Amino acid sequence: MLQLATRDGSPAPAAGLDHSPLAIRGLTVSYGEKPAVFSVDMTVQPGAMTAIIGPNGAGKSTLLKAALGIIRPLSGQVTVLGRSLDAQRARIAYVPQRASVDWDFPTHVMDVVLMGLNRELGLLGRVRAWHKARAMDCLRRVGMQDFADRQIGQLSGGQQQRVFLARALAQDAELYLLDEPFAGVDAATEKAIISVLKALKDAGKTVVAVHHDLSTVADYFDNVFLINTRKVAEGPVSEVFTAGNLQAAYGGRLATAQVDQLSALPA
Ligand code: ADP
Ligand code: MG
Repeated sequence: MLQLATRDGSPAPAAGLDHSPLAIRGLTVSYGEKPAVFSVDMTVQPGAMTAIIGPNGAGKSTLLKAALGIIRPLSGQVTVLGRSLDAQRARIAYVPQRASVDWDFPTHVMDVVLMGLNRELGLLGRVRAWHKARAMDCLRRVGMQDFADRQIGQLSGGQQQRVFLARALAQDAELYLLDEPFAGVDAATEKAIISVLKALKDAGKTVVAVHHDLSTVADYFDNVFLINTRKVAEGPVSEVFTAGNLQAAYGGRLATAQVDQLSALPA
């Protein structure tokens, strides 16, 4: 990451901090005695795709939830586009980890996507034809336009994931946070999701995704953020996605297939 020196030689704040889509400073989150995320700094680069990578239990989901204000941190600050999280909540869209959603909840696909329009609908707002048209357009962008009337629980995992992505698209946010968007989806869905995310990036949006498949990191992402409770490294894939940093993040917990992939990476 670019670091500017000040005139007196003291370290300057990280470049772009003020306008970073998401800047986290000194974040510590704890559910019990042991912190799940400890003293983490993160500066997300605008208009880029960033992968959050680390082993199970590393605090990846917790980091996203704290960034969204879903969990209260023990300490630390989160700013979104240079302002407090409270002021900017509407500019962040979130696709939760699939395992965390109750899929038996009797809701139709269209209703899920319309939730992305809550800000426009307001508390008492009636759903108008144009809201539905916009929701349909978002379903089309993820290839799910024919499923608007289905119950969400009747869809495959990949289809459910696309619907939640459509909900995030409906929100028309600046910053998209996704928790393992490719986990348990079929290859066609993975392709559909990545092309939607790349289109968001091309439109100048910022995408941050928890990602578990090390083999696609270089293909899909510009930057990586490696975490194991503490931050391990952060920066462009070409500089930071190295065998040494992965070993530091995963310790001895890399699967054999992942170790094989490491040999193709810079040390
Ligand atoms: P990751 O997404 O990297 O797998 P998480 O952020 O889900 O990791 O979890 C980090 C740590 O916090 C883990 O040890 C996990 O067991 C714990 N944890 C996560 N959510 C809760 C919770 N709601 N209550 C208690 N402990 C939790
Ligand atoms: Mg997780």
